Amino acid sequence: MARTPLIAGNWKMYKTEREAEDYIQALLPRVAALDGVEVAICAPYTDLKALADSARGSRVEVYAQNMHQDAEGAYTGEVSAAMLAETGARGVVLGHSERRAYFGESDQALALKVPAALRAGLRPVLCVGESESERDAQDTERRLRQQVGEDLAGVDAAELAEVVIAYEPVWAIGTGRVATPEQAQEAIAFIRALLAARDEAAARGVRILYGGSVNADNAAELLALPDVDGALVGGASLQVEPFAQIISAARR
Ligand code: PEP
Repeated sequence: MARTPLIAGNWKMYKTEREAEDYIQALLPRVAALDGVEVAICAPYTDLKALADSARGSRVEVYAQNMHQDAEGAYTGEVSAAMLAETGARGVVLGHSERRAYFGESDQALALKVPAALRAGLRPVLCVGESESERDAQDTERRLRQQVGEDLAGVDAAELAEVVIAYEPVWAIGTGRVATPEQAQEAIAFIRALLAARDEAAARGVRILYGGSVNADNAAELLALPDVDGALVGGASLQVEPFAQIISAARR
């Protein structure tokens, strides 16, 4: 099954609304003529509506970086899936390692967040990946099995193809230490095998991205790997030029 590659830029806590607007106006002409690749900007909440308005009708979609699992409630500072959808956002990053590490995002919460995003029509980009100590202890597969199993427990086979998974080894995020092609290929093939054990046909449609220190120099080699369906890009997405180069490298 042909899967269209997805290049998603994770801005983290960078860019005010004005900075976001300057960026998208520079990016849109750079990607207008490309086909065979989908593009998403995962932006801070405050940028979502303006970005979605500016990108409407283009190939660039706007995603959020987090959401609460409940539809509404007394959760000060939180944002629901419906609130995100109303901004024009089309997806949401869930389970990023920074949220797991600094904000206590748990697999139990993710098991509720992924279906909640799907119900609201948002594409979940579920991040999974092992820490450095887990890799050193040869615990990578156990960690991936646990995250994929628990975080997707509430997703049935019919919905699985809507989910994007980002394999992001924690030791490669923001460190400049990119996984080798062999490491990325092996982990992503393992994740696909886990999905196939649930539903073989649905698993063939799931896009699995690589994330962790992707830049304009290393993107082409990673994106050429047979099981890699795109990239989640942090630091290198903050400037238009390297991000546009990564997008060009993803076309199939
Ligand atoms: C990320 O934020 O998901 C990420 C992969 O960051 P970086 O590309 O900077 O390693």
